[in-house]
Amino acid sequence: MKNLSILVAMSTVLTVCAADKVSEVQTVAPGVYFHQGDIEKSGHCNHGWIVFKDFVLVVDANFPSGATEILPKIKATTDKPVKFVFDTHHHGDHAYGNQIFADAGATVVAHSGVLAEMKKYETGAFGGKPGRWEFAAKGRADVKASKLHPPTLLFDTKKIFEDGKQRVELVHLGVAHTLGDGFAWLPKEKILFTGDACVNGPFNYTGDGDTGKWVKTLQAAKKLGPKIICPAHGPMGDATILDDQIAYFESLRAEVASLVKAGKNSDEVKAAAPQIRETLMKNKKIERYVGKFIETQVEKVFVEMGGKPFLPKTSKLNSADDHRIAHHRGMPHDHGTKLSFNLPGVPTSSLVR
Ligand SMILES: [Zn+2]
Repeated sequence: MKNLSILVAMSTVLTVCAADKVSEVQTVAPGVYFHQGDIEKSGHCNHGWIVFKDFVLVVDANFPSGATEILPKIKATTDKPVKFVFDTHHHGDHAYGNQIFADAGATVVAHSGVLAEMKKYETGAFGGKPGRWEFAAKGRADVKASKLHPPTLLFDTKKIFEDGKQRVELVHLGVAHTLGDGFAWLPKEKILFTGDACVNGPFNYTGDGDTGKWVKTLQAAKKLGPKIICPAHGPMGDATILDDQIAYFESLRAEVASLVKAGKNSDEVKAAAPQIRETLMKNKKIERYVGKFIETQVEKVFVEMGGKPFLPKTSKLNSADDHRIAHHRGMPHDHGTKLSFNLPGVPTSSLVR
C-alpha cells in the first residue's frame, strides 16, 4: 500500500510537473523535493532535497545567492537540519554556494573528481593565480561576498545514505559533463537527480567534459531504471528526458562524424554548424536541446574526433548572449571582444568588459 501511495503521488507529480515551474517547491515523493532554479534571471541551478529521519541531504549547492534562497524554502518543508549538501560537479552554479551550506552546519559531499577539478580550475583558492572563482566574482556580488568551500566528504564510486526511511545512493557513473559528475539515485522511488549530465533544455555546456563518454555515462544511468528525472537545469519529468538527452548527443556526434568521414577541415565544419543546427531542430525529441552553445558543441565533438579547434577561437564567445550565459554561470570565457550587455539584477558597473 505504501508503495502504491508513492506511485500515485509520483504519477500526480508527473502530470503536474512537465512544464517549467521556476522557483516553486515541488514534492516529488514523500520527503523528496525538487526546486527549479531561475537560470535566466540569476544563473541558478535546480535543487533537490531528501528528508531523512534526523537530517536533510540537499542536491547541489548552487551559487551563493541560490543557496541563500533555498535554505528557508527547505526549512518550510521540514524541521530537520541540513546536514549534507551534494555537489553534482564543480561548476560555480552547483558548488559556489557550499560555504553558505557549511555555515548552516552542512558537510559538503562529492565525487573525488570534484575536488580534483577545483584544484585544477580554482587556482586562486588553492594559493595560485586567480582562477574561475575570482573571475566569477567580478560579475557576481554573491560570489564576491563568499569564498570557495571545497567538498570534504569524498567518494569514488558510491556513497549511500540509508536510515530505513530514505535511501539515497550518490553514484559516479563515468565522465560526462565533467570528469567528476555524480548522480543522486533513490532506488525505492526510482528518482534520479542528474546534475548537468542530463538537463532539460538548451543548457549543455560541453567545455569540461567528453561527449563520447557522456553518452556512455547516460546509458549507465538509464540502466538504473529511473522513472522520474530531476535535471539540474530545466523542468523535471519522466525518463524520456534521459532518452532525449542521450539522443541529442548521439545525433550531434553522428552529424559531426559524417563531416569527419568526408574529410572536412575545421573551417568547413565550423561553416556547417548552422546546417547541423537546422538538422537537429527537425527532430522534435531533441529540438529543445539546441541552443546558443551549438557551435562550441560542434567544435568540441570535432576535436574529440581528431579535428583541429576552430579559428578564430570560439572561446571568444560569439554573441552577447553567450557571453552573458558564461558570465552568469561562472564559466570560463574570453573578454577579447567588447560587448554591451546587462546581467539582470547585477549593476553594470560590477561587470568586467
Ligand atoms: Zn555544469
